[in-house]
Amino acid sequence: MRKIIHLDMDCFYAAVEMRERPELAGQPVAVGGGGHRSVVTTCNYEARKFGVRSAMPGFMARERCPHLVFLPLRFDLYRAASQQIRGIFYEYTPLVEPLSLDEAYLDVSSLSEDGRYAWDIAKEIRARILAETGLTASAGIASNKMLAKIASDWRKPNGQFAILPDQVQEFMASLPVRKVWGIGPKSAERFASRGIHTCGDLQKISLPELMVQFGKWGEELYHLCRGEDSREVRPHRISKSLSNENTFSDNLGSLEACEAAIEILSEELLKELRQKSPDRKVRKAFVKVKFADFSRTTRECLCNEPSAEIYRMLLAGAYVRKNLPVRLLGTGVRFEEAAEVLQPELFE
Ligand SMILES: [Mg+2]
Repeated sequence: MRKIIHLDMDCFYAAVEMRERPELAGQPVAVGGGGHRSVVTTCNYEARKFGVRSAMPGFMARERCPHLVFLPLRFDLYRAASQQIRGIFYEYTPLVEPLSLDEAYLDVSSLSEDGRYAWDIAKEIRARILAETGLTASAGIASNKMLAKIASDWRKPNGQFAILPDQVQEFMASLPVRKVWGIGPKSAERFASRGIHTCGDLQKISLPELMVQFGKWGEELYHLCRGEDSREVRPHRISKSLSNENTFSDNLGSLEACEAAIEILSEELLKELRQKSPDRKVRKAFVKVKFADFSRTTRECLCNEPSAEIYRMLLAGAYVRKNLPVRLLGTGVRFEEAAEVLQPELFE
């Protein structure tokens, strides 16, 4: 039986900003991207009372809450706090799987073999986070990742909730299907139209029927809606790079043609980077080229702020190595290997 803790910081980015500016105490605060198309990334509970939500356009947030303090994102600050928090996690177990800067799974099974309760460990970790960073966290404790993640939401902010093995059945029976890992708003709507609202409803559908409808995912769903999840806590989840590539149906015969293609690829990459990993620090940019003779080359450079210009330069450098028509082009970034990701290895 596993003992999993899901630790989730409470409105993390907003909380860090408020810690840095004590004069904001009690005021509605949101942080988000700047400019006229700004979007709320996180907001505090005071702002939520006015209906401000994350992913909401800035203008709408200001409409709902005219005295909202809207601050720009400062990822360096959040990364530093996150690193400090993960340092605390690693003092308890090397089995830490960060999901983002403010969320992680901890497998504390081996600690509880020594007679310690996961509940007490979670409490101690939260108290240490508060003492050392001035920030509050919530925790969910359960026998698997899915339940632990659901549970951490139950007593937010600054609380914790455990789902014990003998409570799982009752807990799942009334849980909305939307809470199940992998079920988005659209699938939830589709289930609702068939009268399926809770996991209890979903449990009435047989395994073969689920598999006909959803394929392999149907089998997973069968177990998830019963509160069963066998996924392990994987310590090295954070990716080291982000990249894309395109194989062309006709080889590109000139540097100019390659430049046009790299322009599109790098734009897509930079967009994906902003959406998926705004919190990661970029260390290198690279371009990948495969020539008509199937030889391949990569050219990279140290760079914190990749741009279309940098990819064009890298391409030029890679292209002259062969000067042949090109079959495939790719662009990518390598991330700073955060100390916290390497930490488990130091303990081994
Ligand atoms: Mg959070």
